[in-house]
Amino acid sequence: MTDQTPTDDAESVLRNKCVALIHATRRRLHELDPGLFPAESTKEALAILTKTIERIGEAENLRQARPTKVYPALLSLQDLIQDIELSGSYHLSWPLIELLGDAFSKLVAHGDIAAFYATMKEHNYRTISYNQQYQRLLGGALPARALASILGTRQLLCVELPSVEEEHPALHTNVLHEFGHVLLDNDSPFAHDFVRVWLREFRPFFTDVERDIVGNTEDKQDLRFALGEACYQFASELVCDCFGAAVVGPAFSIAYGEMRWNKPTSFWIVQPSSSGRGLRAHPGFSFRVEVLKGLRSYQSFRDGAVRLFPRLKTPELNDFDRLMDLVDTRRSTDRIAVNRFLGIDSDSAQSILNDRLTKLKDACRRVVMRFEPLVVDRLKGILDPVKPQTIFELLRRLEQDLTPNTAKDTIPCGLGADFQSILAAGLYYRLGLLSVRSQDETRMVRSLNIADQLVAKAIEQSYVQHHANVVGGG
Ligand SMILES: [Zn+2]
Repeated sequence: MTDQTPTDDAESVLRNKCVALIHATRRRLHELDPGLFPAESTKEALAILTKTIERIGEAENLRQARPTKVYPALLSLQDLIQDIELSGSYHLSWPLIELLGDAFSKLVAHGDIAAFYATMKEHNYRTISYNQQYQRLLGGALPARALASILGTRQLLCVELPSVEEEHPALHTNVLHEFGHVLLDNDSPFAHDFVRVWLREFRPFFTDVERDIVGNTEDKQDLRFALGEACYQFASELVCDCFGAAVVGPAFSIAYGEMRWNKPTSFWIVQPSSSGRGLRAHPGFSFRVEVLKGLRSYQSFRDGAVRLFPRLKTPELNDFDRLMDLVDTRRSTDRIAVNRFLGIDSDSAQSILNDRLTKLKDACRRVVMRFEPLVVDRLKGILDPVKPQTIFELLRRLEQDLTPNTAKDTIPCGLGADFQSILAAGLYYRLGLLSVRSQDETRMVRSLNIADQLVAKAIEQSYVQHHANVVGGG
């Protein structure tokens, strides 16, 4: 006979399961080859995971921590390890990750933030704070102080790319939008400028909204706060799109559009955030494309493309405006849907926003128009905008099944095209191929595969050139 209760027995069983899983996780981590990571910062994420599993496995910790907290934390750890496994060069284009990583570090310009890249099953691009996610998933398995000392002060971000698009490097242009989020979400003069512009342009909107906010003081305050947060995020999403458009011009709409073709285009969404804190809000796809078409970067590229693209051999690429119209074929009027699980009066929030949709759109447009020059200025010298003449020449190479890595006339002899021009040319060409109305599907798929491979090869060459310039001080 022992004096153990059934609860003690159950805890003991679970503790032993924890010990077995710690051993299995150690083995899994040991098998990872850091030589396969395209970004140096992936090693930081791996170091954090390794330290964590060692601390959880320490006898002292296992004695004190509740197995009911440790076991789910160990299971969450498996997902985080999978992120690292999927950030190997088998899954990601390492030259593109290097080029993006270089631009990212110049943009952020200080050492307290680093990013690594991972693929995910979801058909989307997003950036998550690895530190916050880590604390949320691992809290309870280790004392807060131990977790904080493992994470350190540096902020590690995980930029997630859709695994289904692994083979289409040009679509990773969407990462430029994520760079916008990183700059807006961190305390910097740039982020402060955005808040200032947003407050100024949205003030009349909120004065008008105030009339319809009813209920007791606390409910009113919650509703006011949620509406403010939603409108702030609507405007942020549009400004982050400007980051893509300022670099690759109208091609950004294609990259973004390819990710959205399977989703409703007119719905604006306000829903709980996946981290469980606050909300997420996105404007409708059609409105985003409309705002992109009003940008100066769009118009200046269009002027050149309308003049040059009719000279291309591929008929689908000749009419630039028609090509861009394929990105969005709006079928219904915009509506804002507010999720019921936000802890506010969602019906009121929904009607307040929908009743003023025109004014909300106007305020968003004004924020974007005022902020676009600041985005262009922020990117200057780091990611220069693509030129219509260069894209035209790269498209001519793609038409001949040649790598789109050089453009005579616009790029000095011996230099390759920059990676943003290669991505932009790849996106126009892809859209042209996808828009072919032919019964010969095999031929279309073959052409798409060739184009993707040529673009990947050109990015490799661009990286080699970039690396030679860095090493040679060019
Ligand atoms: Zn976004």
